[in-house]
Amino acid sequence: MHLIITEKNISAERIAKILAGKEKVTVGKDGGISSYSFNDNVITGLRGHVVEVDFEPGYSNWRSEEHTPRSLIDAGTIKVPTEKKIIYLIQKLAKKADRVTIATDFDTEGELIGKEAYELIRAVNPKVKVDRSRFSAITPEEIHHAFSNTTEIDFALAAAGEARQVIDLMWGASLTRFISLAARRGGANILSVGRVQSPTLAMIVDREKEIEAFIAEKYWQLSLCTEKSGEIIEARHTTPRFTDKAAAETAHARTKEPLIVTEIKESQKTDRAPTPFDTTGFIVAAARLGFSAANSMRIAEDLYMNGLISYPRTDNTVYPKTLDLNGVLKALQHSVFSTDVDWVLAHRRPVPTAGKKSTTDHPPIHPTGIATRDAIGDDRWKVYELVVRRFLATLSLDAQWKTLKVNFDAGGEPYTATGGVLIEPGWRRIYPYSEAKDHVLPRFTEGEKLPIKEKRLEEKETQPPPRYTQAKLIQRMEELGLGTKSTRHEVIGKLVSRKYVEGNPLRPSLVGMAVIGSLEDHADTITKPDMTQMLEDHMNLIKERQRNRDDVVRESREMLHRVFDQLEAHGQEIGDEIMDQTAEEMTLGPCPVCGKDIRIRHLRSQAQFIGCTNYPECTFNIGLPMVMWGFAIRTDEICPKHGLHHVTLVKKGARPWEIGCPLCHHITSNKETLDLVPTMTDEIREKLHKKHIYTVYEVAKSGQDGVMAATGLPPESAEKLVNGAEEVLVLLRKRSECRKFVRKHLPPRRGRSHSAIVKKLHAAGIDDVEGLVGAERQLLRSVGMGEVEAENLQAEAKRITNERVLRDIGIPAVSLKKYHHAGIITPLDFIGHHPAAISEMTGINPETVYRHVEMVAKALNKPAPEKISKIQLEKGKAELLAIRGIGEAAIGKLYRAGIFNGDRLDQASPDDLAKKTGIPKEKILEYQKEYRAVAKA
Ligand SMILES: [Zn+2]
Ligand SMILES: [Zn+2]
Repeated sequence: MHLIITEKNISAERIAKILAGKEKVTVGKDGGISSYSFNDNVITGLRGHVVEVDFEPGYSNWRSEEHTPRSLIDAGTIKVPTEKKIIYLIQKLAKKADRVTIATDFDTEGELIGKEAYELIRAVNPKVKVDRSRFSAITPEEIHHAFSNTTEIDFALAAAGEARQVIDLMWGASLTRFISLAARRGGANILSVGRVQSPTLAMIVDREKEIEAFIAEKYWQLSLCTEKSGEIIEARHTTPRFTDKAAAETAHARTKEPLIVTEIKESQKTDRAPTPFDTTGFIVAAARLGFSAANSMRIAEDLYMNGLISYPRTDNTVYPKTLDLNGVLKALQHSVFSTDVDWVLAHRRPVPTAGKKSTTDHPPIHPTGIATRDAIGDDRWKVYELVVRRFLATLSLDAQWKTLKVNFDAGGEPYTATGGVLIEPGWRRIYPYSEAKDHVLPRFTEGEKLPIKEKRLEEKETQPPPRYTQAKLIQRMEELGLGTKSTRHEVIGKLVSRKYVEGNPLRPSLVGMAVIGSLEDHADTITKPDMTQMLEDHMNLIKERQRNRDDVVRESREMLHRVFDQLEAHGQEIGDEIMDQTAEEMTLGPCPVCGKDIRIRHLRSQAQFIGCTNYPECTFNIGLPMVMWGFAIRTDEICPKHGLHHVTLVKKGARPWEIGCPLCHHITSNKETLDLVPTMTDEIREKLHKKHIYTVYEVAKSGQDGVMAATGLPPESAEKLVNGAEEVLVLLRKRSECRKFVRKHLPPRRGRSHSAIVKKLHAAGIDDVEGLVGAERQLLRSVGMGEVEAENLQAEAKRITNERVLRDIGIPAVSLKKYHHAGIITPLDFIGHHPAAISEMTGINPETVYRHVEMVAKALNKPAPEKISKIQLEKGKAELLAIRGIGEAAIGKLYRAGIFNGDRLDQASPDDLAKKTGIPKEKILEYQKEYRAVAKA
């Protein structure tokens, strides 16, 4: 069997279809993973990497004394399976294969993914022949060619990828841990540092610093308007910027009629057709259409997988000779672009345009298939059309402009006006993404005199450099050798998701500024692109087999150790600096109680709240939902009433949860519970708020005196209010328990929220778990519970309630478990059974049982049960077992009826006992007779 392994499922499906030709492809599913078969071929897809590099076990504890962040540098690494089902399927198929072809993407990452698959296959089938097919587009021609000209896996190329993987893990993990621990951050709050990520963030931060440090300078611009044949023409002074105001004013004053035409220059300007798309060029062009870098790449990859465009990760801007440009054009003739293609054929440039970079792995991005807008949807169509039009543009003639420059003199001051007309649209005709506006000037003659309609002296300011857009940043990263064509957009995405930068153009957050600031001060190797450029150079040497992987990794380790020498010497300072600077980001504004700042605080337990920085002197605080509902951050908006920043909970992949002003939120969310206090009025509530008493708890805690001082209520009413508040607290505690109970025991279901259920229960007067026991079934059904659910819930509520009562009576938890297990659940169950029976059923010592039953009886105000000692019980049991026909089973039955020795048996009424035990009366009579005989003997 010939097994073919591709990078993704979708490419497996397409390649199967192409290779099968007219044969029928059978789709198989194994553990949810598809494979495609025809004749003796089976094709299946990976999901990119199916294994991941991680440290050997033992390094997961961040706070380990033994395994410090630095120890990660030299920690061993292993490959951990991440896609077990795929691995299982591949190994299962590989066992039966006599040939395997690796058909992953053709670049460093694809080669590494292919090598990973190779290793998985070798592990189960050491002898099978493994080859490699390489292609740049999933089209019939390319695929057939690639599969009839297979080669070997390039292990050097894969090793380069492996070196990068290990180095990224080592740098990222050790530095992230070190910096996070230094700044005392954990959980969702860690500060990630990375080999490519940190220098990229540094560029954004440095730009922000430039903007902050920028001092605007004034300058002046001089222009005038004249008129010719009814048309207004603007001319600018030939000094584009006057930096001296007096000079500008002098020139302005000297500008006088007549305006004389001194010179007319006509010329032609060539507007070169654009060069073929590499990844960066493509991302920049797609950004103009409104696509983020990550989004445009995602769409491009999708188009590639569907055979519509060539591989989108390429550094090449020169069409290779082998690329059949005519073939592409011919194919496009059968698409909606047919008229554009006809035009290109009629206006084709002799040689296509070419950029500066020529590589051999992939051609520039170009169309490889025909699509329609209906078939692929708007966004994909926009990207596809961009690729098609760019391709056509690179084959088109340059555009030609006729330009006109007219120079004037006004009282000795030189002015100039320019115009341009597109005389040959060339490529612009089919590539309408950049504007080309004609600016037509009327005909002038030299020496001609014209009027001055208006003179303008404008004061302007120099502008700071602009923030980076995503596309600009990717271009800059490429220039600096940061990241690769495949990773640059992902790095920017990570900076955004880690809250280091926001917006587009990209603006660093305070945390981003703080981390980079600190690293630049103490370990600037991490923030400079040099280290990463060196790694890229080394990777190239590995590819060319001039260096090996281990050697490069070792050198990187040494470099990282030197970084740690610096870092560890300044750990405390780095932590303090970052904490100082990021504190501001969590600071919301003045505490309503004491006036110092209040701040969002995140605890390691996933809890978060707003507290006063004056703690413990001031204990003002506002609760927030757990981090699982979103990480609390402040926004720029400020509450006009309280002067506090608004708070938002942000969670990846979810819409942000706007809390708004935390104090307004605090007041509103506590109003309802405050109003549960029976004597609460709007007026009292207002007065309490003025004294910063917002919650029922605070009312109870203030006590009678506190409430009197705050509200001016007479002592009696104040006491009533405090008592009322205390009762509400008890109620709230019960309700919270009830809510937890419902949440725990009722499985979540669509369209049914736990809080809505609990609300309805409260409205029906059920505030606690105990209340649930006696709740009407119909009520439970009406709040959205099924019959079985309600039954289970009530059974559980009953168990918990009884358990609580018994615990309150004083039965220890260990015994309770045994009682419960034996079916002794309610207090009445204790009274209802004879202690001997309970002891028998539970295995608890009879004396202990007696003590427990006595406690329950006392609590229920019932008479204490009969007391039997362990010796009495054992003696009695021996008496009973001596009777023929009585075994362990009968003993249990007799115990339950209070019969624990021979005498009791003898004295019992046979009818009664038969009824209580279910033992036939005749048998009982026999037992009695036998006992009497034994006893007499
Ligand atoms: Zn305070
Ligand atoms: Zn407010």
